[in-house]
Amino acid sequence: MRKILIVGAGQSGLQLALGLQSEGYEVTLMSNRTADEIRSGRVMSTQCMFHTALQHERDLGINFWESQAPKIEGLGVSVAAPDSTRAVDWVGKLDGYAQSVDQRVKMAGWMETFAQRGGQLVIHGAAVSDLDYFSRTYDLVLVSAGKGELVSMFGRDASRSPYAEPQRALAVAYVHGLGPRPEHPDYDAVRCNLVPGVGELFVMPTFTTSGRADILFWEGVPGGPLDVFQGVKDPSEHLALTLELMEKFTPWEYARATRVELTDAGGTLAGRYAPTVRNPIGRLPGGGLVLGVADVVVANDPITGQGSNSASKCAASYLASITEHGDRPFDEQWMQGTFDRYWETAQHVTKWTNAMLGVPPEHVLNLIGAGGALQPVADRFANGFNDPADFENFFYEPEKAQAYLASVSGA
Ligand SMILES: Cc1cc2nc3c(=O)[nH]c(=O)nc-3n(C[C@H](O)[C@H](O)[C@H](O)COP(=O)(O)OP(=O)(O)OC[C@H]3O[C@@H](n4cnc5c(N)ncnc54)[C@H](O)[C@@H]3O)c2cc1C
Repeated sequence: MRKILIVGAGQSGLQLALGLQSEGYEVTLMSNRTADEIRSGRVMSTQCMFHTALQHERDLGINFWESQAPKIEGLGVSVAAPDSTRAVDWVGKLDGYAQSVDQRVKMAGWMETFAQRGGQLVIHGAAVSDLDYFSRTYDLVLVSAGKGELVSMFGRDASRSPYAEPQRALAVAYVHGLGPRPEHPDYDAVRCNLVPGVGELFVMPTFTTSGRADILFWEGVPGGPLDVFQGVKDPSEHLALTLELMEKFTPWEYARATRVELTDAGGTLAGRYAPTVRNPIGRLPGGGLVLGVADVVVANDPITGQGSNSASKCAASYLASITEHGDRPFDEQWMQGTFDRYWETAQHVTKWTNAMLGVPPEHVLNLIGAGGALQPVADRFANGFNDPADFENFFYEPEKAQAYLASVSGA
């Protein structure tokens, strides 16, 4: 039986561990935290996942929270005008619903399932020296440790990483008591509120440790008026700042947030990171090779809510590459080929996300504006979150955007 070590128990590591386990592989999973520590710890993400990524979980039968988590049926875009009214305001319908299950709930639950099914769970923060040893005793070592220190083993791919610095300051608050958007009280949607030159506010329903909740997530241009959360340690101060900024920049969202309270003491998060694509193969001092997974190799800014989706897609793609490879050695060529196959999907996510971090060109503003009058444009934009490859067809080039708008407006 082939022995595989997976280092890091997040979306990709756990999904891959559970998938390989059900295929009969002997899997060891190394996590730097126990399930209880994860469950009672701090939130890590907003983790909104769209249809394709959720389907990979269903395919493995590990969609344990699907019936409890709110079904997100739409994705809305509002753009603030200089007088803080809305210059643009629409909601697109998703072909398949999205869901956000707090990673504290999901990762803790999946870890317990992995152990209950006989998987070997090791609670240990792995260092490079550990991997050096393990690469000799396992057939394959996968590093799915997110944006932690182990990424230093994987060189940055400058040709695929246009930004060397973080492009947004991130501030998340999980709350109970948010009201519905009055224009569409009948269904749940992710709300993307764009404040030009300042940043973005994302509001979305989630399923957390205390049941249904909503997330208020500011992405601020570094050095701008939203970049004020660094160093704020008190969760209630973090929430107060979040609301103050909502009142100032997105008063239509603030209007439904006047009664919110934090879900729990771990319900806030602040931070920032530079979006980075890395070389997928890590070379250990003793000569062994390890393969990076998901955020380790392709970490995009969460402005497009893609990281967990990509982690799920990466895990599904790697699972197929591993099982198809049979008993042959997991050598350098196989590792590169496995990453290249995933990059076919990931490249579209990276291109679109990096585009959304920049100042939007006029044809993109036109497209976003058109969503208000033309429902097919709103729907297509919303469904692009599920399959960002589609943006290639109408988003990046002014000619393609114009041709698309003409085709839907009948002009
Ligand atoms: C504020 C914010 C909002 C986001 N919102 C969304 C969203 O709405 N939709 C979306 O799709 N994505 C979103 N993301 C991105 C998403 O959370 C990540 O891309 C995704 O979790 C990456 O999965 P992963 O498996 O690569 O790594 P992770 O989920 O980061 O898991 C890595 C795990 O490895 C562990 N680890 C680290 N070092 C070691 C070590 N040395 N030894 C052992 N274990 C180790 C970590 O503790 C962690 O448990 C968001 C991210 C942030 C920061």
